[in-house]
Amino acid sequence: MDKQLINEILTAAKDGHDDQVAWRRHLHQNPEIAFQEHDTTRYLRQTCRELGLSERKLNMKTGLVAEIKGKRKTPIIAIRTDIDALPVTEQTELEFASRRPGFMHACGHDMHMASILGTARILNRFADRLPGTIRFLFQPAEEHPPGGARPMIAAGALESVSAILGLHVDPHVPIGKIGLRDGVTMASVTDFDLIVHGRGGHAARPQDSVDAIVVASELVAALQTVVSRHSDPINSVAITFGRIEGGTARNVIADHVRLTGTARTLSAADSKRLPKLIKRVADGICRAHGAKAEMNLIASYPVLSNSAEVNAAFRRSFESLYGKGKIVLTDQVLGGEDFACYQEIIPGAMFRIGIRNPKIGADKPWHSPYFIADERAMESAAAVLATTAIDLLTSEAA
Ligand SMILES: [Zn+2]
Ligand SMILES: [Zn+2]
Repeated sequence: MDKQLINEILTAAKDGHDDQVAWRRHLHQNPEIAFQEHDTTRYLRQTCRELGLSERKLNMKTGLVAEIKGKRKTPIIAIRTDIDALPVTEQTELEFASRRPGFMHACGHDMHMASILGTARILNRFADRLPGTIRFLFQPAEEHPPGGARPMIAAGALESVSAILGLHVDPHVPIGKIGLRDGVTMASVTDFDLIVHGRGGHAARPQDSVDAIVVASELVAALQTVVSRHSDPINSVAITFGRIEGGTARNVIADHVRLTGTARTLSAADSKRLPKLIKRVADGICRAHGAKAEMNLIASYPVLSNSAEVNAAFRRSFESLYGKGKIVLTDQVLGGEDFACYQEIIPGAMFRIGIRNPKIGADKPWHSPYFIADERAMESAAAVLATTAIDLLTSEAA
């Protein structure tokens, strides 16, 4: 890539770092959970205005879409950040720790927001040279399926967009490095409830009842065979029940039990089959005991699959900015991410930005109340996103 452009971006990224730290710390102190990001949205709107971005109408209660318009309207490259926090009580004792008890940016979405605001700050300098538009998507509710991506898409956020870029902080990747992976990287998520309907009765007269707790216990164990016996062992599948509710008293046989579960897989084909398989096993076990199974699908995210072309642009940009030998291969995980919803429609990729620095405690896992990030990562994240956006815009416009 053009050396002079790279140097300009590096300088602009460095200049913007103090602003990024200020934005990030404000957002960190004021976390809001899924679909309640009202103050966050107001703050983002105000900051985008100060940066000279134009807001695009979005009919949603939270979230924001803003643009930098270049010489031409199209092509358009989108950059997405999530904006929601988690119901976690922060334990870090940082001076800018959460001021809202019970809520914390423990997944680094505050870092993502400040990173793409930093990207906007950089790209603004190049507005008159951009051969198209850069659209910034501030998306609510990544942490809570069905998530905010689908409503954003329904509200037109992807209109005329050629490709979409995303990022996630990664406490396993050392500061100064990034992670990339082509193709399937994160799992599909199918959240569901199973309700076992038995027949309640006296604890001492099981013969007159259908014990929903006994049936549910067998069901939990039997459903693991969907993983071990009904799925190709080459593909990864996990079925987990995080909650079981049923029964009222020691001497009363439970009438019904609710199992709250999630099924994960890296295979799009398995993802389609899983609900049917789960229902079939549940029906069979329940029928064997004279109970009835009811299955409710709560929400789903598709498999996250990164575009090799967009990843190649990330790679070119990062190596032009910071040299070779600093890109690691991202591991596949069974976590889900609704960035995948955008990728169902247009090419897109998410890169991992390294935030790991054990010297400052930045080595705790995502969602931990001790989660800490090395803030220097935001400077390089902004530079990589700006460079990649220019790269893709230029090749789309050519
Ligand atoms: Zn998370
Ligand atoms: Zn996250």
